[in-house]
Amino acid sequence: MSRLQNKTALVTGASRGIGRGIALRLAQDGAVVAVNYSNNEGAAKETVALVEEAGGRAFTVRARLGTPGAVEQLLEGVAAGLVERTGSSRLDILVNNAAATGFTGAGPSAVTEDIIDNCYTVNAKAPFFLIQKALELIPDGGRIVNVSSGVTHSAFPIQIAYAMSKGALEQITLHMAPVLAPRNITINTVAPGITDNGDPVFQDPEALEQMSALSVFNRVGEVSEVADIVAFAASDDARWVTGSFIDATGGTLLG
Ligand code: NAP
Repeated sequence: MSRLQNKTALVTGASRGIGRGIALRLAQDGAVVAVNYSNNEGAAKETVALVEEAGGRAFTVRARLGTPGAVEQLLEGVAAGLVERTGSSRLDILVNNAAATGFTGAGPSAVTEDIIDNCYTVNAKAPFFLIQKALELIPDGGRIVNVSSGVTHSAFPIQIAYAMSKGALEQITLHMAPVLAPRNITINTVAPGITDNGDPVFQDPEALEQMSALSVFNRVGEVSEVADIVAFAASDDARWVTGSFIDATGGTLLG
């Protein structure tokens, strides 16, 4: 049952939502997990407490991705936390999950340069440089998973800035795969559809019905369902999958 025994992982944006679910699942599989967060220290500590209650190991690392020096700050914190717990700074699994949504509630005419800059900086630029610099810690056979969104494969104009930046993230997956292959490091995109991340909108029956109708299963996803797919991509079982787009939308993209 411990398919990630003796492995280590970093999950960005793991204080809440899907990132928390991924941290819990990777820790359940045996990995020591670095739980990155931006502001919400209490929630990040709660993720660690949940991991520990389930018998796993995790620690928090604060870094607001997209701000100057954040990638270096994050990797220093991760390396220090791993050395303390495992005696080594080796990082087997990197999950780029944190994101800016850039949701405007309006069509493309309401998108500002600031929204575009924020989306690209957090959703594409930060993961790119995190991968580039984390490669010093990632051993041969490592795993990288980029969490994108089904919105890159289905028109959703009110999220155009966010979708553009997630498209850029998916290009990192594609173009880095052959570069990483000689070291047997895989890199894949996992794209969730609408997933209950604990936001109050999921308590609104009318909104929930509309969101549910997007999936062929007529419901929204659970964070554990996305986390299970990320855990597969992070496991040895997925060693023959790289550069790929893994649809975790519950059939939302079937049309
Ligand atoms: P969420 O519940 O809003 O949680 C966001 C997480 O990211 C929090 O841990 C937050 O930390 C962290 N974060 C935000 N900005 C950050 C930054 N600049 N640097 C570091 N951490 C940052 O998000 P979610 O809905 O679970 O989404 C997780 C991933 O799935 C994202 O990539 C998102 O695009 C993707 N996704 C989600 C859905 C969905 O329906 N939920 C659908 C498709 C794709 P703090 O707690 O400190 O703020």
